[in-house]
Parts: sequence; C-alpha cells; structure tokens
Amino acid sequence: MTVINAENQFTSPEDYNGTGTIDNPIKTDVVVVGAGPCGLFNAFELGLLDMKCHFIDILDRPGGQCAELYPEKPIYDIPAYPEINGQDLTDRLMEQIAPFDPVFHFQQMAAACEKIPTEDGTPLWRLTTDIGTVFEAKVIVISAGGGSFMPKKPPIPGIEEYEDKSVFYSVRKRDAFTGKKVVIVGGGDSALDWTLNLQELTDSMTLIHRRDSFRAHLDSVNKMFAKVEEGAMRFEMGQVKELKGENGQLSSIVVQHKDKTETEIECDVLLPFFGLTMKLGPIAEFGLNLDQNLIPVDTEKFETSEPGIFAVGDINTYPGKLKLILSGFHEAALMSRQAFRYIYPDAKLKFEYTTSSSSLQDKLDVDDKKEAKTA
Ligand SMILES: Cc1cc2nc3c(=O)[nH]c(=O)nc-3n(C[C@H](O)[C@H](O)[C@H](O)COP(=O)(O)OP(=O)(O)OC[C@H]3O[C@@H](n4cnc5c(N)ncnc54)[C@H](O)[C@@H]3O)c2cc1C
Repeated sequence: MTVINAENQFTSPEDYNGTGTIDNPIKTDVVVVGAGPCGLFNAFELGLLDMKCHFIDILDRPGGQCAELYPEKPIYDIPAYPEINGQDLTDRLMEQIAPFDPVFHFQQMAAACEKIPTEDGTPLWRLTTDIGTVFEAKVIVISAGGGSFMPKKPPIPGIEEYEDKSVFYSVRKRDAFTGKKVVIVGGGDSALDWTLNLQELTDSMTLIHRRDSFRAHLDSVNKMFAKVEEGAMRFEMGQVKELKGENGQLSSIVVQHKDKTETEIECDVLLPFFGLTMKLGPIAEFGLNLDQNLIPVDTEKFETSEPGIFAVGDINTYPGKLKLILSGFHEAALMSRQAFRYIYPDAKLKFEYTTSSSSLQDKLDVDDKKEAKTA
C-alpha cells in the first residue's frame, strides 16, 4: 500500500515517480475521491475485478467520518461485527484492501475534473488536485461523504482564541479528557453520545442545551438524565454566553438561562457539537447533476449523470437511500461491475464467490495468509 502525504515529503506532484503533471499524469484505472469507509471498500470490489485505484483525500489518513469524528465510538450495525469502533473498522478495511495495493494521496483535495476527448468517444477523465497532481482515468468514483465536513461553530465571542487548545469540535483521543472538567454543548446524537461516553473518565461533566427537548435518540437522553439523577453529571438549560481563561486555556464558562440569569461553570475543555455543514466544495463544479448538494445516481450501476463517473456512499442520493456504511458497501459492489465494462470493454464479466473461486483467492493472497497462519 503506497501512502503519499506530507510525512513522506511529497511536496510536489513531480516527486511521485516523475508523474502526476499535466504532461505526464498518473494513469490508473480508477481514481476514488474520498477514503472514508465506503470509499475504501470500493478498492476491494474494484480489485476483485482487476481494477487498480488511487485515492485522494483532504484528510491526512483514511477513515473519513469514522476516523475523524468518532474513532473510538462503537458502531453496532456493521454486518458480522456486533460491535466495532470507527478506527478499528477503518483498520480492518485497510487490511482487507491491502492485497490490491491501492495508492493513497492524502492532504489533497480533488479540485477539478474534465473530460478528455477520445477517438471512439469512450469516457476518459482528467482529475486535478488542489496542489496540482494530475490523474488520468477511465473511471472516477466520488465517495466524498458530506464533502469536506466543517463543524458549525457556536456564536460565542472570542471562541477562536481557545480552538484546538481547550475548545474542540471533535473527539480524537478519548483519554485526552481523563480527569478534566468537561462541558459539552448541544442536543443531537454527537453531544449526547459523547456526554455518555466520556462522563466516566472526567473529573466533572456538564451538558448544556438551550431547551429540554433533544434531537438525539430518546434512549441516550434517558441515560443522560439517569446520570444527572445519580449525581454523576450536570445538565444546564441555556446558552454559553462567555468564555473565561488565559492563553487559549479555559477556566470557566458562563451560561445564560432563558430568564436571563447566569451560571458560571468551571471548565477545562469545551466540546460544542452543533452539527456539521456539508461543503461539497469543488465537486459541485465537476459538471454533474446535483440534488441538494448530493449526487443523484441510478441504483443498478450507481453512475452519475456523466458516464464513467460514479458516486458511492453518503454523497449519493436515490429513492430510499440510507446514509449507512453498509449501504455504501453494497453500492461499491454494483458500481464495480459497471466500472469493469469501461475498463475492459471486450472482456466477459463473470459472477464468482470469493469462497469458491481460486482466481479471486489468488488476488486476495489467500494461500499466503494461510501459510502465515500455520507457520
Ligand atoms: C457520530 C456519527 C455516528 C455514526 N454512526 C453510524 C453507525 O452507527 N452506523 C453507520 O452505518 N453509519 C454511522 N454514521 C454514518 C457513517 O459514518 C457514514 O455513513 C460514512 O462515514 C459514510 O462513508 P463515506 O465513505 O461515504 O464518506 P465519509 O466517511 O464522509 O468520507 C468522505 C471522505 O471524502 C473526503 N473528501 C470530501 N471531499 C473531498 C475532495 N473534494 N477531495 C478529496 N477528499 C474529499 C473527506 O475528507 C472524507 O475523508 C455515523 C456518523 C456520525 C457522524
């Protein structure tokens, strides 16, 4: 697996074996935009059908929302994993796709996509990143999730001074909150889930929400109020009006209630969870049909309005779409069959099971893995 990012000193497209420029683009079967969980699984399904792919992601690592927003939060609806957290799921997906040797270009944004004219009219695409790496591929798969997701920031004066020091919009490392006085703001699933998840580690936990009705699951809300009853944490109805501290380190926050009274709460860390804004960014300019910042696809091939450009995972929309990881896995399997027809127009597409096909097992290095296990 090849990973190209700031750490391995990839500073210009020419560093990648002299390719990646407009005159000498990186030529590959498929470029996948987005290395979230659904994006990653594309490499597996494409690989089974002998298609090579390069990934582009703005983040510095794979996993998309799972790695960025909830690496340590358990997921309960991944088939055959009764419980797996966001980071472990990402790691298992990376392990699963390793036999196909995908190449990862991190810390780059897919910035432009244009059609390259071909003699026979078959699709060929040029994709360019924001640092100027140029790819040429017959197939593009957009798995950009919610686009470049940005946290919605609360309108608290001076909050910027504390950001990334004592105000965080996501939880990267759970342990970082051990023994801290933590205040969480919000009434959605992220706010409630993290309140319950972190409470035991903290010195004190306070949840602040502007009203007593919540968007989060009722079960989480009930669990939170049970903890308040036990005296394990505190709930305050109101809005954060002021932050107090020095050099980016909070010492307390002031909450204003509906009746305009105020409460000051000691606080080392503030976690505002006000949701995320979907910023589709440059993908909106790729010339694809869009529906409310999502990419409409058919449910047979998961192809967009442009032949050879597919959309898999949270970024797509079709009747009945569920934004679940397992939906993206299914979509990747069907997308790959149509992608195969573009890459190998003269080849016959067979349907095979990995359990019984020796050729699929060769691609997956199954014998090598068995030997390694018995050694
Ligand atoms: C708190 C929380 C809990 C959740 N729990 C569950 C659950 O229990 N079960 C479940 O099935 N789902 C759950 N989800 C939803 C699940 O995480 C998403 O369905 C899943 O992440 C979608 O995967 P994806 O690969 O389509 O997109 P994402 O995970 O959003 O990844 C998209 C990637 O594309 C990259 N990207 C975007 N635009 C560009 C660009 N122009 N250039 C380069 N890179 C780009 C982003 O940086 C990102 O890494 C949860 C989500 C949240 C926020």
